[in-house]
Amino acid sequence: MPFIPVGRFAPSPTGPLHRGSLFVAVASYIDARARGGRWLLRIEDLDTQRCRPEYDTLILQTLQRYALSWDGEVWRQSQRHAIYADHLQRLHAHPGLYACRCSRLRLRGQECYPGTCRHLALAMSGHALRVCVDARRIDFDDRLHGAQSDQPATQCGDFVVWRREQGAAYQLAVVVDDALSGVNSVLRGADLLDNTARQIFLQQMLGLARPEYTHLPLLRDAQGRKLSKQNHAPAISLEDPVSELAAVLAALGHPVSPPLCRQGCAAMLAAVASDWDVRRIPLPA
Ligand SMILES: [Zn+2]
Repeated sequence: MPFIPVGRFAPSPTGPLHRGSLFVAVASYIDARARGGRWLLRIEDLDTQRCRPEYDTLILQTLQRYALSWDGEVWRQSQRHAIYADHLQRLHAHPGLYACRCSRLRLRGQECYPGTCRHLALAMSGHALRVCVDARRIDFDDRLHGAQSDQPATQCGDFVVWRREQGAAYQLAVVVDDALSGVNSVLRGADLLDNTARQIFLQQMLGLARPEYTHLPLLRDAQGRKLSKQNHAPAISLEDPVSELAAVLAALGHPVSPPLCRQGCAAMLAAVASDWDVRRIPLPA
């Protein structure tokens, strides 16, 4: 059976899309379409403090403006608490969970959680919950970065899978949603490369299939900072999507000609998909 990818784009509606997020959206879209696959859209809106419905609407409008058409229904994590809770119970049975009362302040500067609360037997309600990790190494291949090997026990220690206020933490929600929506190809920014071992650990604990992974280089601004909402990257244009898309395709190592640009975003995406090679995406030296 040939591999038919199911990719996805999973933005958080905490602001408008900027060039860095468009870069990821375009790459994941073309990478799926170039191989005859599907492309799903998931809104990661668990953080009710920071997410806004108006940005959810704006993100959908922006993707449509750029001819990035998704397949099927849009999934919203805020509507999936019961499903995450069900998977949390499975982690509770194996390999174990415990409540943690450490504040962010208390853990500041520590990359690896030292297990402070592991044997305190705190009440499971009203606290964050951590999953117990063992000493296993996680080996995986990244399509751009090659062979990777991480050990969650020394990289991060027991990690949070449930937050006191928002419920499912990022790692758990991502793993469950990718598996249940049939995603088998995860393409995202390289800032998430070091999250991958934790996510594979959860897949192993929950008996879920492992997708292929592709971590894109991060776009940087003129000062060398990652383009992100935290760094106030400007929103991408809804007025001139062709110019913005042309810039993104060039940054992906697949520049398009001016005559092609005159045919609009859909034609540009289709042309690049017919000639797509993920290895042409330039990596930083
Ligand atoms: Zn703790």
